[in-house]
Amino acid sequence: MARIVMKFGGTSVGDCDRIKNVARRVKDEVDRGNEVAVVVSAMSGVTNQLVDYCRQIAPLHDAREYDTVVSTGEQVTIGLLAIALQEIGVQARSWMGWQIPIRSDGAHGKARIETIDTSELEKRMASGQVAVVAGFQGIGPDNRVTTLGRGGSDTSAVALAAAMKADRCDIYTDVDGVYTTDPRIVAKARKLDKITYEEMLELASLGAKVLQTRSVEMAMKHRVRVQVLSSFVDAPGTLVCDEDEIVEKELVSGIAYSRDEAKITLVRVADRPGVAAAIFGPLADANVNVDMIVQNVSEDGKSTDLTFTVGKADLDRGVKVLTEKKGELGYERLVPDSNVVKISVIGVGMRSHAGVAQKMFSTLAEKGINIQVISTSEIKVSVLVAEEYTELALRALHSAYGLDAQ
Ligand code: ADP
Ligand code: ASP
Ligand code: MG
Repeated sequence: MARIVMKFGGTSVGDCDRIKNVARRVKDEVDRGNEVAVVVSAMSGVTNQLVDYCRQIAPLHDAREYDTVVSTGEQVTIGLLAIALQEIGVQARSWMGWQIPIRSDGAHGKARIETIDTSELEKRMASGQVAVVAGFQGIGPDNRVTTLGRGGSDTSAVALAAAMKADRCDIYTDVDGVYTTDPRIVAKARKLDKITYEEMLELASLGAKVLQTRSVEMAMKHRVRVQVLSSFVDAPGTLVCDEDEIVEKELVSGIAYSRDEAKITLVRVADRPGVAAAIFGPLADANVNVDMIVQNVSEDGKSTDLTFTVGKADLDRGVKVLTEKKGELGYERLVPDSNVVKISVIGVGMRSHAGVAQKMFSTLAEKGINIQVISTSEIKVSVLVAEEYTELALRALHSAYGLDAQ
């Protein structure tokens, strides 16, 4: 007997027939004699709709009330799935985050799970009852409902698996595993049998939405065996595991893209000590995270252009902060640009092999794609290019690194 956490995303529970399909998959695990907890997302499109309602009422709304609204999608699915399971003879009970409870910090809209008391769930699972748990939500220090950031049900599932020391955490989604790049954009993307926690962490944080970044962090920390697989076809998925479990290591294992960033250029900023601190300090104070940064060589020794990226959702706030400080910072012009995409190549093989970045630059050059900003770390190289080149760049790089499926 094994203890398994199964997670189903929005598309997998997108309508009543799909919820019935999920119930059958859960029954299969129960029939194999396993103890099962299921984590579900809201039905596809529901969370977007709820977010949009908040925006329509007030663009800058109270984060606590945002959580009250957007957490409701999952409540519907847990109830429906529990009913679907009962209909096919499986004992099941639904659980909201606060009922368990899943305790989080108070950062509404992007809360972090702190503790999960699984004692009651475990007792019931041992007696054969399936626990159907609402993903994406927790309860904060002030006893208000919190949400964990978009895509947060993955993190709910991994956190639950860690807390109840589950043997496996199976993430069922609308693709049958983790691919070398988004299979919806590159038809030749190849499914990976295994991927290291580290590479998956980079892929996720650089834009591959197949797993929420925090879920991978948590899996890595607590050594949870995570498997990504399809809820529609029976095929082996992708196992996220330690590096030493992977025999054949690729130089580059994946390519990610993110349309969630925007670029800000400050033209003719004074080139003197303290200026960077004066720019990035107020941005940090306003909770605007800066990612890539490039400063041009100063032509006259007095002023220079500074370009950096921020989250698209933070662009307006960032521009506002810097515009208010224009007098103090003394730049000539501020140029915002949200028509950009960040493309990243990722692979642990980069630690020991040179030339990965060079291949990326020459491949993009051959296609006439201009690189606006570059950043690198031990196992990844990222470039910022104009958004209209997303598909072209992904396909060209995918071929150049020899990742195309045969
Ligand atoms: P769910 O609703 O099940 O959580 P998501 O939409 O959040 O599903 O994540 C699955 C999607 O992630 C896929 O449909 C696919 O388009 C996208 N994706 C992006 N990069 C990758 C990748 N490298 N491998 C697999 N899927 C990816
Ligand atoms: N329903 C939430 C979202 O759409 C959480 C999730 O699907 O993981 O972001
Ligand atoms: Mg998701």
